[in-house]
Amino acid sequence: MFFGLLIALQLTAPAYDRVILGGRVMDPASGLDAVRNVGIQNGRVAIVTTNAISGRDTIDATGLIVAPGFIDLHAHGQTPETYRFQAADGVTTALELELGTADVAAWYRERDPGQLINYGVSIGHIKVRMAVMHDSGAVMPVADAAYRAATPAEIDEITKRIETGLRAGAVSIGAGLTYTPGATRDELLALFRVAGKTQASIHVHILPGVAGLQEVLALAAETKAPLHVVHINSSGLVETPQMLAMIRTAHVTTEAYPYTAGMTEIQSATIQDLYRNAPDEKLAEMEWPPTGERLNRESFTRYTRIGGPIVVHSNSDSMVTAAIASPLTAIASDAYWRNGQGHPRTTGTYAKVLGHYVREIHALSLMEALRKMTLLPAQRLEARVPAMRHKGRLQVGADADITIFDPATVIDRSTYREPALAPIGIQHVLVRGAPVVSNGQLVEGVTPGTAVRAP
Ligand SMILES: [Zn+2]
Repeated sequence: MFFGLLIALQLTAPAYDRVILGGRVMDPASGLDAVRNVGIQNGRVAIVTTNAISGRDTIDATGLIVAPGFIDLHAHGQTPETYRFQAADGVTTALELELGTADVAAWYRERDPGQLINYGVSIGHIKVRMAVMHDSGAVMPVADAAYRAATPAEIDEITKRIETGLRAGAVSIGAGLTYTPGATRDELLALFRVAGKTQASIHVHILPGVAGLQEVLALAAETKAPLHVVHINSSGLVETPQMLAMIRTAHVTTEAYPYTAGMTEIQSATIQDLYRNAPDEKLAEMEWPPTGERLNRESFTRYTRIGGPIVVHSNSDSMVTAAIASPLTAIASDAYWRNGQGHPRTTGTYAKVLGHYVREIHALSLMEALRKMTLLPAQRLEARVPAMRHKGRLQVGADADITIFDPATVIDRSTYREPALAPIGIQHVLVRGAPVVSNGQLVEGVTPGTAVRAP
């Protein structure tokens, strides 16, 4: 009698913390693309099966895609607000690897009580240079750290702080050469040497075009630095296809976001250098977000004094499509959001690739798009950050970071005028097995996200 009851209890007791039933499971690492049930236990994927399974909680994924959660290698913001935006877009890991931080330990300490999604940061050359050279810029350098060559002592101090950041667990090294035009080749060589010596990937916003790419390819070749070129779409513009061909033969990695306009601070060196002496028709590439007006000489000067983010319409649909469709590019948002303003890529990058580039224009297959959102970014980092071997996959033993979406309806909604609109079709998002989006709605007050950090 007693044993009979025990066996009956075991047969009926839920076996898993949570199960996802009847979805089309797509795992770019194994190539699995089939209807399966997924069981989650202790934040990990415990089973992927055709058998019936049960759990304490059930997600019905009939008609939906069940994919590894999206990993964003280039996510500015890194606030509770931007984590909410990105979760709604299917992102389960948001990494700030370009701009980074000057103080890695403090950056993680601020977030380590837990966040909505997983987070991580680079030790950022731009930010370190600002600290060492006492630049007054709030986000980007606007004075010495942008325009002045560092002294040999300052270069020593910059490299020392980069090494300190790596020892504190930075995921990678970040750099942005358009933001620091005063940095000499000697300084960049010292920076790339740290990447070569430690084999930490260096994520670089390069100077524009083929010449900018040649510069960093030469630095990487000389120092054996593992190079990742950020947003090839906006650094490449009309030269994007040629630059992708160069990247393929050089065995470096890159990324792209699916928008024809960029965004950065109007007072930054990258904007000032490009537009300070430009004619009015070139200035009209810029849009001031609060009003939607295109700039001219007078308004450019006026808004530079005010400061703030500027939308830059400088790319074409065909170049962005080439960047998004290339097998070389990870999808990375370059999420940009400050003081209630930002770029629609913050809220719509992944849904736009799935809805527009995959479903509407067939620029790439669904499995390939998922590979570029999950496995590819995980692989970029896993040599230095072994924890990434458990992300970007939907397999037994992987972290249960999972994005479940409707391939028939998924699409972004944000625009340059209304950049805060959540996409549609992203139905459920799990971070380490816990829902952060449920039935298309954000789950409030949960913090399953943990630090992604090098050991
Ligand atoms: Zn950038």
